[in-house]
Amino acid sequence: MRRFFYKYTLLKSLDKAWVFNIILFLVFAITRFSPSMNVDVRHRQFIVSYSPEDETYAKRLLVVLDKEIAVFENFFNTKLEGIFTIEIPASQTDYNTSAGSNIPEWSNALYMPSQRRMILKKPEWFSSEENFEQVISHELSHLFFHQKYGHSAIPLWFNEGLAEYLSDKRIEMPEGVIIANAIFTRKIIPLMNIDSLLLFNSGRARLAYLESLTAIQFLESIISSRGNEWDEFMEMVNQAGFEITLKSFTTYDQVDFEIFWYRWLSEKYKWFIILNWENLIWIFMTIVLLGALYAVRYRNKKTLEDWENDESLQLEPEDQVNIDINIDNPNY
Ligand SMILES: [Zn+2]
Repeated sequence: MRRFFYKYTLLKSLDKAWVFNIILFLVFAITRFSPSMNVDVRHRQFIVSYSPEDETYAKRLLVVLDKEIAVFENFFNTKLEGIFTIEIPASQTDYNTSAGSNIPEWSNALYMPSQRRMILKKPEWFSSEENFEQVISHELSHLFFHQKYGHSAIPLWFNEGLAEYLSDKRIEMPEGVIIANAIFTRKIIPLMNIDSLLLFNSGRARLAYLESLTAIQFLESIISSRGNEWDEFMEMVNQAGFEITLKSFTTYDQVDFEIFWYRWLSEKYKWFIILNWENLIWIFMTIVLLGALYAVRYRNKKTLEDWENDESLQLEPEDQVNIDINIDNPNY
């Protein structure tokens, strides 16, 4: 009887535990997987999908769309066609699941042309110091680029460089130091190799984005120096392809373009090497050392002068005469 009682109470407590676990699982499943938790908002030609707690980000996204769409339509000389989806996943796991296994950890967003779908990480998950608005603009540039050129054979540095350029990325001191370090350590990535961007680690990827941006800046400087505009270049790429357009606007084929870009890059950014922290420390230590050496020499000189002054004050004129005699007459 006593044994039965134990069994009964044990079963009862097990039942309670099971019921509790099942309820917990259901609550988790409902809150975690229920599609009703996502808000879908139609804005212009976009369906924006986000969790209610991310409404602030969704609003910031709509502001960027309102501000930038006309700019991009003008630059690419194309109107948006059809509907696009933009998602702000509720969790990093959701982002990774949506992005797929080929997308590197360091990515802050992506655009999938075949699905007409953009996925944005929330800024708190960004792997680098990036601005949410600039990340949206960067992906919008990819969206327009793919709508304009489809799957034409255009090097990735041109696509990524334009995305950086159109999202108003700038090369400030830290970026200049990265480029200068790469120049001095011979780690500059050939522009053509940037096609393998997705295989790069985060440091190399950052350098690849910077190089792409500088290549666009270099290209822009040539285009404008010849009195041409971006829209002419972009239109010719659409009609004649990238290689022919590049040759026509710069006289360089891709290999020569890369050689002249590298020369320009070195001239423009190599001096940033002195702003490297490690170099700054060495420069500072050298200045301190030279300062210390100068101080010691100055002090010794001063002491010597003081001694000489003291001695000349203590010596009588007769003594000086004797000394002179000593010097002038060694045999004396
Ligand atoms: Zn990109």
